[in-house]
Amino acid sequence: MGENVFEKTENFVMKTYNRYPVSFVKGEGCWLYDSEGKKYLDMLAGIAVCNLGHCHPKVSEAICQQAKTLIHTSNLFHIEPQAELAELICKNSFGDKVFFCNSGAEANEGALKLARRYGTEKNPEKYEIVAFKQSFHGRTMAAVTVTGQGKYNEGFGPMIPGVKFAEFNNIDSVKEVVSERTAGIIVEPVQGEGGVVPASREFLRELRQLADEFDAVLIFDEVQTGMGRTGKLFAYQNYGVEPDVMTLAKALGNGVPIGAIVTKGKFSEVLKPGLHASTFGGNFLATRAGVEVMKIMTEPGFMEGVKRKGEYLKKRLEEVAYEFPERFEGVRGLGMMLGLVCREPCGDIVASALKKGLIINCTAGNVLRFVPPLVISEEEIDYGIGILKEVLKENGAKG
Ligand SMILES: *Cc1c(COP(=O)(O)O)cnc(C)c1O
Repeated sequence: MGENVFEKTENFVMKTYNRYPVSFVKGEGCWLYDSEGKKYLDMLAGIAVCNLGHCHPKVSEAICQQAKTLIHTSNLFHIEPQAELAELICKNSFGDKVFFCNSGAEANEGALKLARRYGTEKNPEKYEIVAFKQSFHGRTMAAVTVTGQGKYNEGFGPMIPGVKFAEFNNIDSVKEVVSERTAGIIVEPVQGEGGVVPASREFLRELRQLADEFDAVLIFDEVQTGMGRTGKLFAYQNYGVEPDVMTLAKALGNGVPIGAIVTKGKFSEVLKPGLHASTFGGNFLATRAGVEVMKIMTEPGFMEGVKRKGEYLKKRLEEVAYEFPERFEGVRGLGMMLGLVCREPCGDIVASALKKGLIINCTAGNVLRFVPPLVISEEEIDYGIGILKEVLKENGAKG
């Protein structure tokens, strides 16, 4: 096999990740295969990215064709699949217009710029952003500033000024920080990295009201919750609360890097020509993948299937929590974005499951996160739950 990937990574790749000693060489549907030929059930989907499973035939075919035809021309020219993807997103959401970029952080960065521009055009002092504790919005400077978890921004200060934090699902704490100086409010409908915590319907409704009252841009970060993850195409559709701006990334290209900012009405007019841009954003390859993803997810019956299987997975996880009450507090989440809440840190469970061929991960220290490809079958869910139970039995009372 030539030189070892582990050694090369150690020698030449900047050590910003703690990687497992596993390297996958092939993927199909919910399954990954490592360099030794061992197969794994993937209930993480590349962190909520491969929502249609690995190498979905239609997506792979589309990007192969596109790669042979035209990959990139820049946004100085019109790009057919970009226009088509924008139309598909708008016709299936609250949105009127879309801006394309390349990642979640970049989408949030753009959305925050939009909010500040909107605010400061009314009043130079109207630049504040309200964000939430335990949130996660990405690693660029503005995104990491609005991320309400110290470990992500310690030592990178000073952060951008004007960001105020409130408690998630606590509207009174928002009322304490929101004012005429608030340009935008950024929130995840379900906090992902914060431990798979859904917002309450009441909370999002009241945020909507506060945003209207103070003329602030309401931004939903749907980078993780978007693209069918929560049992609807977009999570806000579960709540009956529309944002002014929504950011997308992760699963929009099923693995091809792409991000998007979706806007409504007057908020679509804030970023005028020259005010924001991206070299790669919305190029042929990425948007061709996105078009295919959108077409598949909007086929009749697709989302119903996700909802049904999400409920099934939740039920199976609740059984696990019930069977091991000394280890688990319970299950929370929405659709196929579920967290099994542990009473203790759960990194050991993740590592043991991986050895047995099940891929899951641990978020917020003590929450086992299940974000499998949405195309997972009930049989595959059963298989995964089987491995999880084996691990829990072998790990004994504690672990
Ligand atoms: C993953 C994630 C991001 C960051 O996306 P990147 O593509 O890694 O920059 C932002 N917001 C949420 C909610 C995420 O889950």
